[in-house]
Amino acid sequence: MSYAANAKWYSENAAIMGTNIYVEVWSEDPIQGQLGVKTVLAEMERINQLMSPYIESSELSKINNIAGREALVISPEMFELLDKSIKISELTKGAFDITFASVGYLYNYKENQRPDDKTIDSLLSAINYKHIQLNAEKSSVKFLNDKVKIDLGGIAKGHAVDNAISLLERMGITNALVTAGGDTRLLGDRQGKPWIVGIRDPRNRDKQAVLLPMESSAMSTSGDYERYFEEDGQRYHHILSPKTGKSTYDVQSVSIIGPSSTYNDALSTAVFVMGLREGLGLINRIDGYDAVVMDNQRKMHYSTGLQQ
Ligand code: ADP
Ligand code: MG
Repeated sequence: MSYAANAKWYSENAAIMGTNIYVEVWSEDPIQGQLGVKTVLAEMERINQLMSPYIESSELSKINNIAGREALVISPEMFELLDKSIKISELTKGAFDITFASVGYLYNYKENQRPDDKTIDSLLSAINYKHIQLNAEKSSVKFLNDKVKIDLGGIAKGHAVDNAISLLERMGITNALVTAGGDTRLLGDRQGKPWIVGIRDPRNRDKQAVLLPMESSAMSTSGDYERYFEEDGQRYHHILSPKTGKSTYDVQSVSIIGPSSTYNDALSTAVFVMGLREGLGLINRIDGYDAVVMDNQRKMHYSTGLQQ
């Protein structure tokens, strides 16, 4: 593509969905450029209002309040994301499971709070994606166990990034970057060169462990450093095994590279839970997806698609 002299990058940072959003849009037209950036931020806020567990009026909160008792009609967007989440649970043998929240809601990483073993045991049977019953004709959801809670923290940001990129494409924008926390997707390249996307060092906020050149692609990273607290030398972090209701410790960071941010996001969480061997094995079997994993000894591992 050509780069007209008046073409510019339009960018903005914002704090939405409990994370840092960063948008960069290339345009020859200042109105289009600025509108592109605003459109992305508005989409992030829309999804936050729909899917946040901390907003009483969100559709997610409504589901958690009602679906344990009776079927609730939900929006097509929510229905589709729940359906995708269940399919990813099946693909990952339950490592990704939005019902983790049946126990997960009792963790408060800011307040150093976690449920005790007895409480975890009493709720563990509520963690099972098979408790989520979707009815496509009625566009409704019902939980088959009244203790079930769901949370979309492992997939909603990826969904928001995919939506944001679609909106930019529809505006005729051909080159952009959208990042929501650990989820990044790129439209085109950056002025004839690839974008450089970093994977953070899990134990050093200011250091990148890996830099990858990318274009027209996406990457999501899950790490044990995003939300956690420490107690007696143990790190209690936000990625939980659906089998135990507790944090997993096989790896420190997982990045998934693939075309869809929604899948990258969910798969990075899933591989984190599955651990190095099983997780990399899964990604090696999925066409078009690759992984970079840092294990708990800080050793880097790459899926076969990245080894040449
Ligand atoms: P972030 O970008 O916030 O670090 P991740 O993609 O790493 O997000 O996913 C972590 C989030 O996913 C947690 O904060 C929680 O909301 C959710 N989560 C944790 N464990 C699971 C799990 N086993 N299955 C699905 N979602 C999970
Ligand atoms: Mg994720």
